[in-house]
Amino acid sequence: MSEPVVGYIHSTESFGSVDGPGVRFVTFMQGCRMRCEFCHNPDTWNIGGGKKITSQELLEEALRYRAFWGKKGGVTVSGGEPLLQVDFLIDFFKRCKAMGIHTTLDSCGMPFTYDEPFFSKFEELLEYTDLILLDIKHIDDEQHKKLTAWTNKNILQLAEYLSEKGQPVWIRHVLVPERSDYDEYLERLSEFVAGLKNVLKFEVLPYHRLGVYKWKNLGIPYKLEHIEPPTKERVANANRILRTQEYKGYLEV
Ligand code: SF4
Repeated sequence: MSEPVVGYIHSTESFGSVDGPGVRFVTFMQGCRMRCEFCHNPDTWNIGGGKKITSQELLEEALRYRAFWGKKGGVTVSGGEPLLQVDFLIDFFKRCKAMGIHTTLDSCGMPFTYDEPFFSKFEELLEYTDLILLDIKHIDDEQHKKLTAWTNKNILQLAEYLSEKGQPVWIRHVLVPERSDYDEYLERLSEFVAGLKNVLKFEVLPYHRLGVYKWKNLGIPYKLEHIEPPTKERVANANRILRTQEYKGYLEV
């Protein structure tokens, strides 16, 4: 194996249980260019920051927990936005796959482009990626821009590209009152996701306020101050419109 690649991480979680199948070692990469109003990790945004680590060092750290992964578990790389450090991901996942470890990428898709050099690198990354958790933050481009400060065009393109390739994905959608929690938007999202051929799971993540203190600590104004998490009824409504129960492929893997 060639020289390990250097990356910048925010933190790790030894026993993650929500970012992919089974028990997982989750790495939160440093750096993100989106600015989601509901972000609960604004401390990962700064691209120049984080802890420097090599892919081999991260692998060795992850391997300490291998005994807990069972058949389904493995490693997940999340963020921040991990695709901003695609060279590091390729090298880390390559090392993981050489050891038979299940790899999951948790991404908002923002860096995706068909332009080079990114696209070829992304293709290479897919060779070592078992599962992608892709966030679709808003189906409407104008609303997406307001909510995240970025277009959804290339993100939807990524979803379609992964569908064509048959790359397994879980789609995740944060349900935010006054932002994405409108039947019209949910219906459009439902239609879009139904057109994809590779969705093993479709999850509604109710907006929560657990990261608000971080915005305060960082001195960044928090625009959703007045918004409460969605009610149980609205979450059930979203699940019904999005037909999330029909995406059961993840149970078979
Ligand atoms: S993409 Fe993720 S890390 Fe980036 S701002 Fe949005 S929620 Fe936060």
